[in-house]
Parts: sequence; C-alpha cells; structure tokens
Amino acid sequence: EVRTRFAPSPTGYMHVGNLRTALYTYLIAKSQGGKFILRIEDTDQERYVEGAVEIIYKTLRETGLLWDEGPDVGGPVGPYVQSERRDIYARYAKELIEKGGAYYCFCGKERLDELRKIHEASGVPHKYDGHCRDLAPEEVQRLLAEGVPHVVRQKIPTEGSTTFHDVIFGDITVENDTLDDNVLLKTDGLPTYNFANVIDDHLMGITHVVRGIEYLSSAPKYNLLYEAFGWDIPTYIHCPPVMRDATHKLSKRHGDPSYEDLVADGYLKEAVLNYVALLGWSPGGEQEIFSLEELVKAFSIDGISKSPAIFDTAKLKWINSAYIRALPPEAFHELALPYIRKAVRREVDTRLIAEVLQPRCEKLTDIPEKLDFIDELPAYDTALYVSKKMKTNPENSLETLRDALPVLEALDDWSAAGLHAALFGLVEQKGVKNGVVLWPVRVAVSGKQFTPGGAVELCTLLGKEESLARVRKGME
Ligand code: GLU
Repeated sequence: EVRTRFAPSPTGYMHVGNLRTALYTYLIAKSQGGKFILRIEDTDQERYVEGAVEIIYKTLRETGLLWDEGPDVGGPVGPYVQSERRDIYARYAKELIEKGGAYYCFCGKERLDELRKIHEASGVPHKYDGHCRDLAPEEVQRLLAEGVPHVVRQKIPTEGSTTFHDVIFGDITVENDTLDDNVLLKTDGLPTYNFANVIDDHLMGITHVVRGIEYLSSAPKYNLLYEAFGWDIPTYIHCPPVMRDATHKLSKRHGDPSYEDLVADGYLKEAVLNYVALLGWSPGGEQEIFSLEELVKAFSIDGISKSPAIFDTAKLKWINSAYIRALPPEAFHELALPYIRKAVRREVDTRLIAEVLQPRCEKLTDIPEKLDFIDELPAYDTALYVSKKMKTNPENSLETLRDALPVLEALDDWSAAGLHAALFGLVEQKGVKNGVVLWPVRVAVSGKQFTPGGAVELCTLLGKEESLARVRKGME
C-alpha cells in the first residue's frame, strides 16, 4: 500500500510551496488508493510558532486535503507529533550506536566554535573532525556516568561513495568524505530533522517521501542511516522550488503572498489549489481547470517538472475568474456580499449586483472599486460621452438623454426586461445603432466609461428614482 506523509514544521504561515508539497503528497497517495498521513515536525523548539499547527489544520481542511492518520485523528503508528516521540528516538539512537552507525560526542560548544574558526580561516569546508568517533568504550561509559552533556552523531563511512535515487532527479552520487557526521540527537535529547525523518518515515511505513529540493543534498546521509539500520529506502520525490522570478525563490519575508494572503486577497480556495497543482506539474493535455477529485484521477508523478516553477499571478487570476464564473449564483452572492457592503451603503438589490458582477470578476477584492459609483455619482465631464466605437459625442448624447428621459419616466416595469424593451424601443424609434442610446445612458448614470454591466443593468441596480435623477443631471 502506498503511504505518503506531509510533515510540516509549525513555523507560521502556509507558504505556497508548502501547500504544493502537501497537495502532491496527497495526490500521490490518493491516485494510487493509498493513505495520506499528517505528521507535525516540532523538534526545533526555537522555530516553533504559537498557533501554527492550527494554520496547518485549517489550510488542509479548507483545501480538502484530508489526512487518514494524524495527530488529531490518530492511527496505528502514532503519536504523529515528533515532540511526543522522544523515547522512540532515544531507543533507535542507542540501537544505531550499537550497530556502529552512530557515536556519542562530548565536544563542547567552545571546541566546536574553535574548530569552525580554524576551518573558516583556512577556507576548508567546515565539518566535524571526528574527535569523539573512536573514544574507548570505557571512556564513553565514564563520561556518560558523570553526566557530561553530549550529542549523538552519525558515523559516516570515511571511504567510498553513496548513491541515491530520486524519481525526478535520477541517480545522484556523493563521496562519503564530503559528508559531515551530523548530530542526530541533540543535548536536550530531541532529534534533529536528519534523524527524526528517517526513523518516522520508516516506523510509519512511508513508501514515498515528497519534500522540497532543499533536502536533496542530505538524502545520501539518510540512505546511510537506512542502510545502517537495515531498513528499506523509500521512494524519493524532491520538488523543485517555487520562484518569484528567474532568480528569486518565493518568499513571504520578501513580500510574496502565503496561502492565507491569497485567500484574503480575494482568491477562492479551490482556485488557489488548482493553480498550485499546475505550478510544476503538467497534466499533459489542454485541460487546466481541475477539481481535487479530477486531480486525483489525472495525477501522475511523471508530470512533475524538474525545473523551478515561476509563480504567475496573471494565470492565478485567470483560473480564479473561471472558478467564480462556475459558482452557483447563490454561492457567489454569499461570497461577494461582504465586498459589496464595503462599497455600497445605499439600499440595493445585492443579488442583482452579484449577478452583474459574477461574469466580470477576477477576484473578490476587485468588487468594491467596480461599485464605487453606486452610492455617489463620481464627478464626470462631457468628454466621457465620446466613444468612437459607439459613434457618440456630447451633442448626440445630450439629444439621446433628452429623448430617453420621458420614456424612462413613463416606464412602470423597472426590471431588466422592462428597461431593455424601453431602451431598445427608443433605438428603433430613432433609427440609430444600439450604442448611440445605451452609451450615453450608461455614462449618465455612472459617471464612468467602464462599468460592470451596461445601461440596462446599471439602471436596474440603481432603481428608478436614482436613475432618473442621474439622467437629468447628465443633461446639465
Ligand atoms: N519539516 C520539514 C519542513 O517543514 C519537512 C521536510 C520533509 O517533508 O521531510 O520543511
């Protein structure tokens, strides 16, 4: 059975890259009928941020990436929070030491700082010099008994090379003497990521490890751990980074949006997820709009790209407007309502506004500015009546408004259908093109050339009294 895990550290926001890792991890499991596991990696107490675990839960739930096993739902191989697995790591560290794959290290901070300085001064890449690698067993026992602070380090072979395989990047070989004897268990007894990821992925039966490319260079060390324990190595899938442009990684610190920012900026959760799926994965066809269910059907690991993906706001907007158009009108009304209320204080039919906006809306936060003419008529000048395309100018526009006013005053059925009939009746009567009548009315009631909807929609929205007042004003 395929088992994958999303293993975030609770350090704050849900970055776009993290969400993409979560999605691909979910899709790899679900496209093969497997299990998706959530594991919280909180052993780095200094990076821990209050509330970050809740953000992880909330984001995964909102986007539908529901986990089969995890901290809150439990499962057969828990606990699923690393800080609750301390004893497990201690046990396996001991086992590894006995198997010759690790050793106690009693070097203090001072010695290590000194070593780093020497390496820096002479320009050699810094790594631990193996001072405690071959301490006599009695010496180790004595130091442990004395309670001297210590860590556990990985014992990397000094010779030979290690090869590992990544599905996306192929076979990668490194010389063992370039690898550092990294710390596996810290002085406080908690594991480093380097140790915990291997222990947990093995004990949790993870078959496919999906994570960011920043872990690629450490994979040989993980393989050496699996080998020292005699465990099977999982399939690795390291995803290339998400970039702001050709040279910069997407970064919240440098102002790039997180998932929460995008939602706050008026993007629909489903649209963000759909966009994120395409950020480095190609479905290999024309289709670009995918529900999560469709993604599960369409996904395959081969479609993941080797090259970095560039975050493209224009494309996200395009996908978002497609999702907005596809919403049932009632659902769009509900989403749009807070934004309509932001711009409009006047008594209006918000359903009608939503109906007019829905086909013209790229993101929800665009709504208020589209409606800025409803409460108050912006100052306008007669130049707005000039439209080459509509063949209008201030003179024929004023003439139209003079003709339109009595027709509108006499209109009882102030609905879209009634207004349509009245205005098109005038078009026919005057023997002119549609635009010659519709354009001046639109400009008069909105004070703008670009509006959501045309004359009929705008008059319907504004109601009879307000529309007539504006037509009269437009004739001044
Ligand atoms: N805790 C790691 C992170 O948040 C996860 C890496 C992994 O998936 O193995 O970057």
